[in-house]
Amino acid sequence: MAIVPSHGSPPIAQPGQPIPSAQPPQVHGTALSKAAAVPSARLVDPAAKAPEIPAEVSLRPRTLAEYIGQRALKDSLSLAIEAAKGRSEPLEHLLLYGPPGLGKTSLSMILAQEMGATIRITSAPALERPRDIAGLLVSIQPGDVLFIDEIHRLNRLTEEILYPAMEDFSLDITIGKGQTARIKRLPLPRFTLIGATTKAGSLTGPLRDRFGHVHRLSFYEAAELAEIITRTSGLLNLPIDVDAAALLASRARGTPRVANRLLKRVRDFAQVHGDGRITMALAERAFAMLQIDGKGLDTLDRQLLTTMVSHYGGGPVGIESLAAAVGEDPSTIEDVYEPYLLQAGMIQRTQRGRIITPLAMAHLGLANTTGRLL
Ligand code: ADP
Repeated sequence: MAIVPSHGSPPIAQPGQPIPSAQPPQVHGTALSKAAAVPSARLVDPAAKAPEIPAEVSLRPRTLAEYIGQRALKDSLSLAIEAAKGRSEPLEHLLLYGPPGLGKTSLSMILAQEMGATIRITSAPALERPRDIAGLLVSIQPGDVLFIDEIHRLNRLTEEILYPAMEDFSLDITIGKGQTARIKRLPLPRFTLIGATTKAGSLTGPLRDRFGHVHRLSFYEAAELAEIITRTSGLLNLPIDVDAAALLASRARGTPRVANRLLKRVRDFAQVHGDGRITMALAERAFAMLQIDGKGLDTLDRQLLTTMVSHYGGGPVGIESLAAAVGEDPSTIEDVYEPYLLQAGMIQRTQRGRIITPLAMAHLGLANTTGRLL
């Protein structure tokens, strides 16, 4: 499999078919370089990819067999791959959705690999202008995989260019301006679009309908995360005890990216305060220093939960008010903090807002200020 970052797309215009105002497309940033622009100090942030990039690329599973967990999804994709290969056709367009860090990009790279295809990686924020997507599309080779991260963030114009590209494998370009403008249809080779999103609900109906496969990735079980941690420690040449791997897994918020990041931080601790081996005792000390508790919550999660109690009597509280109270962006709370807190049963979403659960109250040792039984 070749991985082609979207930077190097050839110009859109074919000789003799000029596109007004078309420059050689400048598709700024691949999914990876886009991520590099979003540093985060938060250790358990599943969306923060920045400091991990060089190492994470090598930690990515390369085959479906190395890709741990998500069994039902893997089975269904293996079948789709086999069937598509049998017909000598590219895979149908595929939408992968689920919280950040669960393996959407990794799975897409594996799919391309299994199909023997080249993958071109980009993200919706890098496709601002129509010519960005047009440039990518005209450079596509038969069977290529085009991966668009955060696909829910595509703008309307770009999306409209994608519709015929996905459905009829053609690109409609406007030639000329005003009254003399006419649309020319360029045929494209058959390709597979893989869209990844944390917010499937924000996709427009017409875009969603054009995907042949729509799959949700779920949070990982502790045993699967322990397997991922063991695999990563092998790749990093890092000795780790079985019980220590289980401890890390239990604090990784169901997310492989967090699991790998915790492992690296605990490795640092083991190097400085131990002999390099990650034991249970050492991992516990590392977590105490990092202020990550038994459920994998960090100080920000706890601040969020305690604020729900101290300011709003445990809820219900709207996302905007909660975000303002903790000084965070509402969409960060929704996309990054909330999915795991919901999954772990720490909060519930109701029509009137979020409420804290008795489980979270007990976990934080909080008393309910309203005296109401939650
Ligand atoms: P997403 O695209 O959903 O944000 P990624 O595919 O970038 O997530 O995954 C983040 C990291 O987590 C990868 O670099 C890889 O090291 C690890 N990872 C994700 N899924 C798996 C898996 N199923 N098995 C092993 N490692 C995984």
